[in-house]
Amino acid sequence: METPSLPDVSIIAAPVYLILIAAEIAIMSRRGEDAKEGVRRDLWTNLAMGTGNVVSSLTLWTGVAALLLFTWNFRFVDLGINWWSFAIAMVVKDFVYYWVHRFQHRIRWCWANHVIHHSSQGYNLSTALRQPWFSATAGTYVLSIPVILLGIHPALFAFAGAINLFYQFFIHTQAVKRLPAPIEAVFNTPSHHRVHHATNPQHLDTNYAGILIIWDKLFGTFVPEDDSEPCDFGLVSNIPSQNPFYVATHEYVAIARDASQPGLKPLQRLRYIFSPPGYSHDGSRKTTAQIKEEAGVSLSGGQSAYMASETQAGATSP
Ligand SMILES: [Zn+2]
Ligand SMILES: [Zn+2]
Repeated sequence: METPSLPDVSIIAAPVYLILIAAEIAIMSRRGEDAKEGVRRDLWTNLAMGTGNVVSSLTLWTGVAALLLFTWNFRFVDLGINWWSFAIAMVVKDFVYYWVHRFQHRIRWCWANHVIHHSSQGYNLSTALRQPWFSATAGTYVLSIPVILLGIHPALFAFAGAINLFYQFFIHTQAVKRLPAPIEAVFNTPSHHRVHHATNPQHLDTNYAGILIIWDKLFGTFVPEDDSEPCDFGLVSNIPSQNPFYVATHEYVAIARDASQPGLKPLQRLRYIFSPPGYSHDGSRKTTAQIKEEAGVSLSGGQSAYMASETQAGATSP
């Protein structure tokens, strides 16, 4: 079977990334905002994580690629490689990305891999390169299998994925406040993605989009940026080290430690691996749902009806 050759997005992307990261540092320095907004913070860790991610793509992901190419043998139809199958692949990839990203936030085993991207308290273009080293182990590639069976060649789907990630580089910035309203309505933008990276309770687990923000609007996870409440970037519990090896592995180590505690029931051990992050058998930690409930915001981020009525009645919110 012949594998179609498509352009290698990373060859174009790498120099673009480095030039724009330098330009962003210059812009934010000129505005006097680089120290305040942390443009340089974690820069070298972010670049190390990006480099490790490329190495991982060339090694661990080759096994996944072989599996997906094998799956192609069992396709029901073949859409070929042309402009309209490319357009379909882009939209389907973005839809699958939304769900993969949602699972990455809601299943701790997948979060152990994705947490790396969220583990900087800075938010700038270099944060986009802060990517995991072991993403092949998360298993979310299984969501690609139905797409391939339905006729999108694995190489075309991977090409669409590379463009999707290339797009997302540009939304990791505080240099752009808002884009024109029609763009903000349809596309994922710096404003929408800042919300995704924020730990304010109403922002947790929202705005999972890749390119199109419409998925969040359709599936109830969209929250707009609130200019009256600045985004607090990072994790609910920030990590103590920016050593790349620590950043890449800390949550896997934490899972192993939690799941191997003495005296747990088998189900509790499994829940430490597969429940949403923040699960604990003794209630000593909080999940996103519990943090939101205590803050009086609904899972999708808006003020809950319960809290709204309490606030009107004069109750104080936490
Ligand atoms: Zn995320
Ligand atoms: Zn991001």
